[in-house]
Amino acid sequence: MNPSIELCSHPGLDERIVIVRAGDEVDAVFVRTERFNVLIDTLGTPELCRTALDLLEEKAEVRPLIVVNSHMDWDHFWGNAAIAGRAPIIAHAAALDRLRDPATRQVLQDKAGEEARFRDVELIGPDITFSGSMVLNGGDLTLELIHTPGHTPDHLAVWIPELRVCLAVDAVEYPVPEVWSRSADDLRLIRASLERIRDLDARLVIPAHGGTCSPSTVAKNLAYFESLADRVGRLGGSRLADPELGNASGFRLEDFVAIPGDMPSDTLAFYRNCHETNLGATVQAHGEKLKSA
Ligand SMILES: [Zn+2]
Repeated sequence: MNPSIELCSHPGLDERIVIVRAGDEVDAVFVRTERFNVLIDTLGTPELCRTALDLLEEKAEVRPLIVVNSHMDWDHFWGNAAIAGRAPIIAHAAALDRLRDPATRQVLQDKAGEEARFRDVELIGPDITFSGSMVLNGGDLTLELIHTPGHTPDHLAVWIPELRVCLAVDAVEYPVPEVWSRSADDLRLIRASLERIRDLDARLVIPAHGGTCSPSTVAKNLAYFESLADRVGRLGGSRLADPELGNASGFRLEDFVAIPGDMPSDTLAFYRNCHETNLGATVQAHGEKLKSA
């Protein structure tokens, strides 16, 4: 069953920005500017996206709509079919590679096999793509689309300088973000993207999961990757090859970040998995450093 949609906000968030929350699944964000409205992400199904557009109708007034896909992960763009023909969809150019990747179709097949609500999902790509960065000039508000790879190769974050608000999507996440692969290159990218977001010096940093808005999450995510590198950096060669390293005391998720006691078990399992990938990438990076030394 689709989660229910609610429109919400964060303390201190400008009223032109509305958080579109699909239960615990994901948050999309609606931004109203003088010239147009922008919807960042289309949620996990066309039905969810249609419900969100209906709820937003009053706030949308008669302005044209522009849609941004932050990245091609299912929970962020599978609602695109509800947008096709109504508004242009913008994404980073690397999103096209992900759409062509057979793994993307495989995720849809797997999820449609598990849950009926995914059976009417069509994989619809962006109409407009860019490399580097792109700026949407809304008059009163500017939306800078910043390529922030590392979680995925196509990931973008949105910076609104007039409000000092960063819509960080999945580049920042509580308790931990997830790197794209166990490669040292992707680890470098996710850390560089976190630093880029930190250097914006935002008043609010809003990820797409976890309902947080404090910029301190960026610092905590960076500190997490730093301590991972520190601890792995002290290991000798034989432990580096240990596939069970993530279960060893000192290397488990809870040895790096505090986990709330009321976190649902499937959420915890999800973040343990993210941590495993992050640890794997850190081990790989350390191995490369040893080799080149
Ligand atoms: Zn996500």
